[in-house]
Amino acid sequence: MSSSVRTVISPGRYIQGKGAIHRIGEYLARLGSTPLFVADDLVWGLVGHDVELSVKQADLPMRREAFGGVPSAAEVDRLVAVIREAGADVVVAVGGGSVIDAVKAAGHLADIRWANVPTVASTDAPCSALAVIYTESGEFEEYRFFPRNPDLVLVDSQVVANAPAHLLVAGIGDALATWLEARATARSHSQTMAGGLPTLAGTALAELSWEVLWENALPAIAAVQDHQVTPAVEKVIEANTLLSGLGFESGGLAAAHAIHNGLTAVGATHGLAHGQKVNIGSLTQLVLEGAPTSDVRDFIEFTTRVGLPNTLTEVGLRSDDLDSLRVVADAATVPGETIHAMPFEVAGADVVSALASIERFAVRVREEAGLPAPVPYVAGH
Ligand SMILES: [Zn+2]
Repeated sequence: MSSSVRTVISPGRYIQGKGAIHRIGEYLARLGSTPLFVADDLVWGLVGHDVELSVKQADLPMRREAFGGVPSAAEVDRLVAVIREAGADVVVAVGGGSVIDAVKAAGHLADIRWANVPTVASTDAPCSALAVIYTESGEFEEYRFFPRNPDLVLVDSQVVANAPAHLLVAGIGDALATWLEARATARSHSQTMAGGLPTLAGTALAELSWEVLWENALPAIAAVQDHQVTPAVEKVIEANTLLSGLGFESGGLAAAHAIHNGLTAVGATHGLAHGQKVNIGSLTQLVLEGAPTSDVRDFIEFTTRVGLPNTLTEVGLRSDDLDSLRVVADAATVPGETIHAMPFEVAGADVVSALASIERFAVRVREEAGLPAPVPYVAGH
């Protein structure tokens, strides 16, 4: 599937703003006549009433299916059966990255249109034409690629600001990786997740996401802790969802996400958010690149202030537990992983060394900056 063409892909329409959820019916009516919503009970308790009102105003029938919790192959197949039984012509994910991935995969298999209503800005899943499928126990299983992106992505900024701030923080971790990985992909002339070489547009959006986050992440997190929507919050939601979504897909993934995928192979990291593990991947990628020490230091200080993990301790690992680090490194470097989009060859042993090295350095940088020491993560908590 190697190709010398450049390409950029995107959702049909992206909508973001306070109160946007009140217009979901109006936008869905352009896509189909029989929508099927998929959301877990918790999310539906928060936004179901507003969705139902809007759907009624648009004269569309209302049906919601509960989401099983994990975007596994079995859950996707179950949703396909529900779509067929309901005769739905557009399936709508309401919630976080997991339900969005499951619905994209189900919408594709059922050959109907699909839309996403992210209620958190915790991953860059909503805009892309791919889904990540996990095993029932939460280990990375495979990427599934689809011939088209979602027809609609609608984000209500107030709904995102009402969610716990740590979810926005996780999204910032996912989105910070975007530029690091797109930059590496551009340097190595590698294929992106969109199935071609990166365009200037894809790479530029990835870089813009990075700039927006360095400028706005800290005030945005503070605002969301009080459930307020400010211009900084709007910018961070767009960076996490649209800029990072287009940027990772059409700009390319590299070491950071491969290391994230490797981390999921170790039980000690289970329960951490995607963006938290990705942040360990970003820092490890900087080490692998031999990035300037000032860049590595800045990254550690900034992500500590944001509230993201940048030590092994914070993801349940230890620098002297080489067996676990080898499991991570082996999974991160399997053939086909995006780590091979780095502009140089990366072997498993390189990943082990880079991972083992971040602990001591990050602890020292944090100490020198007067930032808090890492708090150990215990899986299941
Ligand atoms: Zn990601």
